[in-house]
Amino acid sequence: MGRGSFRLKGQICYSLDKDHIRTVKEGTVVCVDGISQGVFETVPEIYEGLPKEDFGDCLIVPGLTDLHIHAPQYAFRGLGMDLELLEWLETRTFPEEAKYSDLDYAKRAYTLFAEELKRGGTASACVFATLHVPATELLMELLDEAGIRAFVGKVNMDRNSPDFLREESARRSEEDTLLWLKDTADKYALVKPILTPRFIPTCSDELMDRLCGISEAYGLPLQSHLSENRGEIDWVKELCPDSLFYGDAYDKRGALKSPSRTVMAHCVWSGDEEIRLMKERGTFIAHCPQSNTNLSSGIAPVRRFIDEGISVGLGSDVAGGACTGIFRAMADAIQVSKLRWRLVDESQKPLTVEEAFYLGTLGGGAFFGNVGSFEEGYELDALVLDDSRCPHPLELSLKERLERFIYLGYDRCIVGKYVAGRKIF
Ligand SMILES: [Zn+2]
Repeated sequence: MGRGSFRLKGQICYSLDKDHIRTVKEGTVVCVDGISQGVFETVPEIYEGLPKEDFGDCLIVPGLTDLHIHAPQYAFRGLGMDLELLEWLETRTFPEEAKYSDLDYAKRAYTLFAEELKRGGTASACVFATLHVPATELLMELLDEAGIRAFVGKVNMDRNSPDFLREESARRSEEDTLLWLKDTADKYALVKPILTPRFIPTCSDELMDRLCGISEAYGLPLQSHLSENRGEIDWVKELCPDSLFYGDAYDKRGALKSPSRTVMAHCVWSGDEEIRLMKERGTFIAHCPQSNTNLSSGIAPVRRFIDEGISVGLGSDVAGGACTGIFRAMADAIQVSKLRWRLVDESQKPLTVEEAFYLGTLGGGAFFGNVGSFEEGYELDALVLDDSRCPHPLELSLKERLERFIYLGYDRCIVGKYVAGRKIF
């Protein structure tokens, strides 16, 4: 289906930058060939002929970005949450991911996952699949059909995981990756491949070198995990004795700076040197507050990342996070930042509503290009929010209505969705 040209009228809110939300009462977003022409109080004459949808008193906001989610873990979200990362991977995650060698199982589970993303507020996502090529291609197809803009990664792992979920060698992993890239390059309108070494503990130096070589040769982005959990960090120290710190182990192989962006999830325990290095390399960070809480990983220093000018977005990290909703992730991010401020470091102020909304729209959207805003030239992704479904007797400004929506996180109040100028529902 092609990219449309139309006008959407309603109560409009979007981030101008991390500190400012623009609100326009009775505003109109104009979309031409899938690209926003801006928001107008009075629509210029040249656009008057475009078809119009009037959403009355509903809020209209940009589509949201989930910078870190595991599609095969959707099936068991909400389970095993008494464990920490390494034990949780061993007992819950690896046995479940192994099931994706069975394409019938993958189809059942990934269909539910794609349906969930379609119904919710996520317009763009960075998605981990499993190491299995056929199931990963199926997932890409289902997300494309669902109208979600996504980078999807066939996972690479050649050490320190059970026999049933480990590639036999770095070379074999590379061969499978090249085969997958050949099958999927330019095949889908909205879904693209992203290189996905799971994390240092399951990826040998040789494998990391081979993947970074592919990234260079094909100009591909890369996603992985960094400094999530203390046990994991100690393990990386043992595995990579020559590295100064966890991020340095990636950087030695060239993984922090792929030719078209790298995103690292978590960075809960990143110290001064690691933060400096990510800043230098232009690495994106996916902040996953619910997952970091569920797996008792800790509280990432997001205020610090923002103040340093590092690119940050939000991740649900299903199934470390139980919820796919990014409005919920915004509220979680604010709440854990308040705990960090009160309990860990009083010099680091909590996030504001403006900042959390920015992270879930423009901040994470930047990984995909001009995504996450209604400013002229951005891809037209929009959500229509009917907050009258959660009634109240107050007189609220648009900004207050948006704040309330973020804290309530009611995805059932999303009554319309557009991605890349195409109506999803
Ligand atoms: Zn993850």
